[in-house]
Amino acid sequence: MSPASLVVPQRAPMRRLNSVDATTENVRIGGPTVVVPPKHLMAPSDAHEVAAAFEIARHELESFRSATSSPSSPPLETLITDKFAFAFDIDGVLIRGGKVIPEAIEAMKQLNGENRYGIKIPYIFVTNGGGKTEQERCIQLSQQLRMEVSPGQFICGHTPMREMAETFKTVLVVGGEGEKCREVAEGYGFKDVVTPGDIIKDNQDTTPFRKLTSEEHKNSRLRNFAEVEIEAIFVFADSRDWASDQQIILDLLMSKNGRLGTRSETFEDGPPVFFSHNDVVWSASHDLTRIGMGALRVSLEAMFKAVTGKDLKTTAFGKPQMGTFQFATRLLQQWRNDTHGINSPPDTVYFVGDTPESDIRGTNEFDNEAENNWYSILVRTGVFQEGTVPRFVPRATVDTVLQAVEHGIEREYRNALKKRAISANTTPAIEE
Ligand SMILES: [Mg+2]
Repeated sequence: MSPASLVVPQRAPMRRLNSVDATTENVRIGGPTVVVPPKHLMAPSDAHEVAAAFEIARHELESFRSATSSPSSPPLETLITDKFAFAFDIDGVLIRGGKVIPEAIEAMKQLNGENRYGIKIPYIFVTNGGGKTEQERCIQLSQQLRMEVSPGQFICGHTPMREMAETFKTVLVVGGEGEKCREVAEGYGFKDVVTPGDIIKDNQDTTPFRKLTSEEHKNSRLRNFAEVEIEAIFVFADSRDWASDQQIILDLLMSKNGRLGTRSETFEDGPPVFFSHNDVVWSASHDLTRIGMGALRVSLEAMFKAVTGKDLKTTAFGKPQMGTFQFATRLLQQWRNDTHGINSPPDTVYFVGDTPESDIRGTNEFDNEAENNWYSILVRTGVFQEGTVPRFVPRATVDTVLQAVEHGIEREYRNALKKRAISANTTPAIEE
């Protein structure tokens, strides 16, 4: 599929829960659900009005100055809210090992107006992680960051898979905890979702060294896989059992048309495999990086080659795919419009991430194709380790997400001063 076809999902009729009271349990029960911030936070932001008021005041001050005194230094630019925006990776930037990185809370406060210029700056979150519904992840993130995070400003690795629910009917969903990813896939509209547990329940000899726990056995659905054709394989989240998951994926890849128990003569009749991202390592609680979904992908491709002698082509979503950044552009546009009444795209989007191969690479490549500027900022709180040279070079490298936010705001301020100096036909006093 072409990533360029990704679009922001359309709204379907669904329940609305207040994010202050909503619990994971509430969300899970009772069909399609959207979790929204309290009404006062859903009201249009007053950032635009405040900025406009500042602008009027500035003009008045300027005319007052020019009428009463000799030329003075240029007044400060205040109307910058609609000129730039931020996008954040989550793991290794805001959260590490399930715990919030302390500077992240202050960084969010600055974006929400607690900065030296008193401006609010729109922002979104773009993570390769997954394994939960977007709503559940936003509830968790809201608690961790101590502020409201709306699904309207959030993309995770498997969000684009939503658009494939119409293309494939019976699919194998791999990864994540318990039945979580089956629930996510069904929430996306997939009609018939199979898990590795279902396959092991039907034939426990499938995985000689893995037996289902009593809970897994209870949750797994009994069916006769001799009669089922699996049309596609989706790795939604990290596999909890590489050996058995890879065995099952390999069985399907070597099958005739996704029917378990069969073998293709050419090994070219298996279903396609999609990964929600391609990060080989990620930043967890351990001091050193841990292997992730990209490593499973490498392993699977190598194993297929070793067993069949053929090359396996798989597809990965998430960063650094351009489709994810196009998706992020549309989400940001919708978010800025809905919450700030801004219709035009920002001149610059500051993307803050910790992984050079996904965050920085994707931002830099998208900067080349986008009409506006995408400015990559690498933080030192995650995958990237000081003393190494990142394969993809960021526009700026800083210690923490707070410094990243301050860097973007100060850069905008300096640019505004420079523009003013140029338009006043004077030598810029401050270099970028
Ligand atoms: Mg990260």
